[in-house]
Amino acid sequence: QPLVEFREVRKSYETTEAVAGVSLTIAPGEFVALVGASGSGKSTLLKTVNRLVDPSGGTVLFEGEPVESLPLAALRRRIGYVFQSIGLFPHMTVGENIAIGPRLVGERLPEGRIARLLELVELDPAMAARLPDELSGGQRQRVGVARALANDPHLLLMDEPFGALDPITRDALGERVRALHADLGLTTVMVTHDMAEALLLADRVLVMDGGSIVADENPQALLHGA
Ligand code: ADP
Ligand code: ADP
Repeated sequence: QPLVEFREVRKSYETTEAVAGVSLTIAPGEFVALVGASGSGKSTLLKTVNRLVDPSGGTVLFEGEPVESLPLAALRRRIGYVFQSIGLFPHMTVGENIAIGPRLVGERLPEGRIARLLELVELDPAMAARLPDELSGGQRQRVGVARALANDPHLLLMDEPFGALDPITRDALGERVRALHADLGLTTVMVTHDMAEALLLADRVLVMDGGSIVADENPQALLHGA
């Protein structure tokens, strides 16, 4: 069974058709990159999975069930989301930021969980007590990844996660995310406009243009003609 299935998904804003009828399945364990020019509909398509966006037509299934039939809190617990704009709350510590998802639904993370999550993204557990503006941009984005993993999600969605980082920081974090994807048995969908990054990290590259998927490629095949 696919982990995610898009059936004829469309999304229109007043005058724009952002997603123009996408049908697609994503299998458990895949690392998918969604690549394309700015405005091609990548972010909108990604957000239909965790219902940050509701489609104008068609259906998105997660683990075999239409996402609109699942309670929103349950859906979001099973899906980690890394924002483009990081979106850490500046007045809350790193630890409080990581625990915000569970807290919003009245739950608490188990003892030691925040330290463990910081270790997963290669940050010093002592950083839990710091405020976001005491961290570098790369460290803040690592916290964003740790927060997305707080609920042990099956699916990790990332919207241009490394876009604002310098190339060295970006490569290091990309490699870490790739390792976490394998170690934690995640299914990962990453939006990026950077084809090189997509080819490096993903095992499947989907190219979007004008709201449609125009290519669906295996990077090994692209690079080696296999
Ligand atoms: P991408 O992620 O590929 O840059 P988006 O999904 O963000 O593309 O946007 C696709 C199109 O939909 C663009 O033309 C964008 O301006 C438009 N769009 C996205 N979100 C909204 C919104 N909330 N309201 C109106 N138009 C939007
Ligand atoms: P993030 O990844 O943090 O959600 P984005 O830059 O992708 O940040 O989007 C920020 C918000 O702006 C989103 O809610 C998106 O739907 C909205 N948005 C994007 N493009 C447009 C647009 N052309 N008109 C109105 N809202 C838009």
